[in-house]
Formats: sequence, structure tokens, C-alpha cells
Amino acid sequence: MKFVMIEGDGIGPEVTRAACEIVKAAGVRNEWVPAAAGLGAAEQFGEPLPDETLETIRRHRVALKGPCTTPVGKGYRSINVRLRQGLDLYASVRPVKTLPGVKVPYTDVDLIVVRENTEGLYAGLEHVVVPGVVESLRVITKNAAERIVRYAFEFARQHGRRRVTFCHKADVMRLSDGLFLDCARAVADEFPFIQFEEKPIDNVCLELAMDPTRFDVLVMENLFGDVVSDLCAGLVGGLGVVPGANFGARCAVFEAVHGSAPDIAGKGLANPIAVVRSAAMMLDHVGERDAGARIEASVAKTLQRGIGLTRDLGGDGTTATITRELIANLTA
Ligand code: NAD
Repeated sequence: MKFVMIEGDGIGPEVTRAACEIVKAAGVRNEWVPAAAGLGAAEQFGEPLPDETLETIRRHRVALKGPCTTPVGKGYRSINVRLRQGLDLYASVRPVKTLPGVKVPYTDVDLIVVRENTEGLYAGLEHVVVPGVVESLRVITKNAAERIVRYAFEFARQHGRRRVTFCHKADVMRLSDGLFLDCARAVADEFPFIQFEEKPIDNVCLELAMDPTRFDVLVMENLFGDVVSDLCAGLVGGLGVVPGANFGARCAVFEAVHGSAPDIAGKGLANPIAVVRSAAMMLDHVGERDAGARIEASVAKTLQRGIGLTRDLGGDGTTATITRELIANLTA
């Protein structure tokens, strides 16, 4: 079994190395196929996302990715956006669940944010109308709207979830979100056994702040999803502990959602849990369910015991100490 590995920049190599050690300790027999992306790739190949990297992922279908630095001011478009568009990874999935031992204001949060990854304002269609006036086009198509809502319902069905909330702003963006909402309602009709609700995105944010436990699966367009998925990560301890995945019809890329943290890079201080949990999602995706579940259980146990935790988790440990604990807490 082969998985593509994009180490990324900054703390990327440190946290992905930890993930590899834990996957191995969980008993998975796999080979990692290295692929380049980020600042390192730009320096080496003159291109932060070489075509070869996309080809390698197309060939092996599954990749684990560390955070990448997009070189700023050199005319490069975001690597993550290009990766998602290049591989048509149309569904971003962020599971957000309360973790033991992590001090946050809420208990019992357990929701999934499903975000449309290829269109909306992130379609990248911007132009200068006249100097001082810029337009960004917000693209919504029936096909993409239907497939992301269908993805959310299928996800709910397969994971035993009971409600899908479609988030929109159709009262203001009558045409674009009006179309999206029509598509969501039509797809919801295909799943009469799952509850459907539609809510303005601003109401959703208010309710997430007041009582996030009432949500199950949330589905929305690209920009709303970008903001809401980070907001939701904050509800359970931040970007250092939540995993992320991007799915397309053929490929899937599992990634740490935090950045390359240049302030702590190379110091052995990075928390690897986000990428470790992304690796667990990847194992689940390829059918290594037992190993994925054991890694998730080990993360919970490690956080609960509170030994060897990194500084962002309130400890005084290092990437090495937390990795040791994660391996020690893997049960047979
Ligand atoms: P960041 O997430 O890198 O850092 C924000 C803060 O969180 C920093 O103080 C950092 O030390 C801390 N932090 C982040 N991850 C951590 C971890 N695993 N363990 C401990 N502390 C952690 O965000 P930023 O500073 O805005 O971005 C830095 C670079 O990362 C930028 O070049 C940006 O483009 C890139 N970035 C990449 C991705 C990605 O590839 N998915 C996502 C966001 C930002």
C-alpha cells in the first residue's frame, strides 16, 4: 500500500514525521511516496506546486499533506486552492469533536463541516475594472452545488448522522445562493430519512457561539466554509488538534489545517496531533479502519493523561515527547 506524502514547509516535516511514526506503530504496512509542494518546491523546481506532484497524487489517489507556505508577492496562487482545483477535490470535510482534557467552554460538540472547495469567491476570478475598482466573481453552478450537498447527505447516511444543515445567504445573494438553496432542497428530497434544515449563515454563527452541540452536519459554499470550519475548530481547542480532508471523485488529500508556523519551525515544539488525526482519517478512508480508530483513541488518551503535551496544549513537552506518548497509548 502506498500513500503520497507532502511534508510541506516550516513545522511540516516535523509533524508529518511524527505521523509516519505513529502510522507505523499502529501496524500499518505502507510505503510513503514523497511529493514536493510549498516554499521548498518553489526553490527547487521554480514552482510551488509542480505538475509532477499532482500526477503522483492522481496515480496513488491518497495523500497526507503538511502545511505549505505560499510564497507571497511572487504572483503565485495559493497552493491549497490549486491543489483542490487541480485534483477536483470538491469536498472539504472537517470533523469537530470535543476532546478529553482540552479546556474549552463547551462539552459534547460533535459536528462535521462540509465545505464546497472549488467555486464561490475562491474560483479566483478577479479583475480590475478601472484603477481603484476590483471585481471578484462568486461562481455557483448547479452541478457543483448538487454534488456537495449530496456528498453531505451521503456522509451523514454512512456515518449515522441524523441532520444536515444547509448554510446560505440567499436573502441577499438571491441569484447565487438562491440557486444553491434550490439545489440543496432538491437533493434533500432524495434523503427523506435524514432531517434537513436551511439557515442563514449569520444565524448559524450566532448559534455556534451559543450552543454548538445542536449541530450535526453543516454544508456550505467555499468562503463561508473556510471561515466556519476555523470557527468550529476553535470550539474544540483550535487548529492544532482538528484534522482535515479534501475528497474528490478519484483522489483524497488529508491535511493539517494549521499553517507552517515559522515562529516555532525547527525547534521541536510543534504539536503533531492535527496531522496525526488527518492520517487516521486517511487510514479509515482506505479501509484500515482498526488502525485509524486506534490512533484516534490514542490521541484521546494522550490528551486525557496530559503527559508530554506541547506548549500550545498547556504542557511543557516537545514534538518528540508527545509522539512518544501517542505511540505508548496505542492499544493492541
Ligand atoms: P500558522 O497556523 O502557521 O500559525 C499561527 C500560530 O499558531 C503560530 O503562533 C504558530 O506557532 C501556532 N501553531 C500553528 N500550528 C501549530 C502546531 N501544530 N503546534 C503548535 N503551534 C502551532 O498561521 P500563519 O502564521 O498565519 O501562517 C504561516 C504560514 O502558513 C503562511 O505562509 C501561510 O500561508 C501558511 N498556511 C498554510 C496552510 C496550509 O498549508 N494548510 C494553512 C494556513 C496557513
